[in-house]
Amino acid sequence: MEGITAFVQKLLPGSADFDAKAGAIALTNDEVMIVGAWDKDINFETKDAMMPDARSHKSGLLDRTSALAASANLPAFVSKLPKAELHVHIEGCLTPERVHAIVVRNGLDPKEFDPDEATARRQCGSWLHGDYQPMMFCGPNEMAINAFLTEYTRNNAMMRTEQDFYEVMMDYLERAAENGVVRAEIFFDPQMHCFEDNSGAGAAAVEMMGGPKRDPKGIGKPRMKYEDVVGGLTRGIEEGKAKYGVDAALILSFLQDRSLEEAMEMLDQAIKPENIGKIIGVGMDNGTGPWGPMMGGVPNSTARFKPCYEKAKAAGLMLTAHAGEEEGASCVNMCLDVLQVDRIDHGVRVMEDPEVVKKIADRRVPCTVCPISNHRAQIVPRIFCGESPIRPMWVNGVNIAGLHSDDPAYCAIGTVDKYCYSCEPQTYDGYVNSAYMRAARDSGLTPDECVTIAKNSLEACWKLTDEQRAGYLAKLKAYCTDWRPSQ
Ligand SMILES: [Zn+2]
Repeated sequence: MEGITAFVQKLLPGSADFDAKAGAIALTNDEVMIVGAWDKDINFETKDAMMPDARSHKSGLLDRTSALAASANLPAFVSKLPKAELHVHIEGCLTPERVHAIVVRNGLDPKEFDPDEATARRQCGSWLHGDYQPMMFCGPNEMAINAFLTEYTRNNAMMRTEQDFYEVMMDYLERAAENGVVRAEIFFDPQMHCFEDNSGAGAAAVEMMGGPKRDPKGIGKPRMKYEDVVGGLTRGIEEGKAKYGVDAALILSFLQDRSLEEAMEMLDQAIKPENIGKIIGVGMDNGTGPWGPMMGGVPNSTARFKPCYEKAKAAGLMLTAHAGEEEGASCVNMCLDVLQVDRIDHGVRVMEDPEVVKKIADRRVPCTVCPISNHRAQIVPRIFCGESPIRPMWVNGVNIAGLHSDDPAYCAIGTVDKYCYSCEPQTYDGYVNSAYMRAARDSGLTPDECVTIAKNSLEACWKLTDEQRAGYLAKLKAYCTDWRPSQ
């Protein structure tokens, strides 16, 4: 190690920042040029021919000098890399501090919601209220997801006014801008707000905090107006665009553990002439609950929403669905063949079936992968024995259309504060840049591979004009050409 340090310092006088042990070089612009000059004796054509995988995925945007600088400074390079976030739930952006502010404003008892305690509950461990479990002792993957969904449902039930939705959108767009996001396509779950919740966890929490008494027979009864939910989010998008420069749009997500009839009712409201322009597509999320795909080849959980998807498509909306996360490759297959989706959210468990991998790769269906959420929901630890599926997906030609946060306010690995900002350098704060850094760590992504993935995300955006898409890609190209570590 000392020999390498001495060598680099001799070659680059003044390069005192070189730290061989950490494997990091803090290069200045001039130094990058000098190091880049080493390339002159290397036959890259022969080398690249011998490394066809690396070669076939080159972004075409990052030259060798920039790639060299970026490889030594990946967090800085990724931090402002222009990217699209296509898989984020607005309800998953509710920070403990925002929940607390909403609880107070909505006249609920703030003594029942301590933001510091809620922050601690969300740290790497169980999501269950007051029931901390280290990750390694978590049970089956669906238990981890259900623990998260219980906490999520309780917090979502605190949101009761248009202003609540506006504020959480503004919170997210501020963080998105900090993370280099130029375009965000954001899920919202209106069924969760417009109807009393199925499990009762949300209504029970509100009652405990002095809110309306829960009616056990009132499940499915109307709660908020769709126009208030979508109105607050849209107001946030308009103001957020002006304040933070992020272009955003909404995707209505159905809850796959609820009835087809309820989803249809929601869709009918969303496609009314006065509402249709406020969303660009539909998706489907939440646990599959009792509707998980039947074994024995008869589809149900996903395929039963076919009429909803057909109606949405006829109304001019784009289609996606969560698949290949809680459920396996057969669910991805259903989404492709029965629902005819334009994108797949997650998709990682497609690796369980080579035929579905081939199908999704041949069709170039974009997958919106969420590495940190997959870790927190036990998909990577349990299904993949701790190995990231991103590299195998990549090698098999799956279109990884960006890396995404999913539910950033719930997904940190390490310590964050009640606003969901990192408290220590090693923390993955849950937002989109930390998803890139986690994937880079787990799958050895090079800077150029990060660029290709960001480019895929921009190419997979929906309802852009040709001019908008060309503008985003030009921004990515300029960033790659101009980027130097001092920036
Ligand atoms: Zn999701």
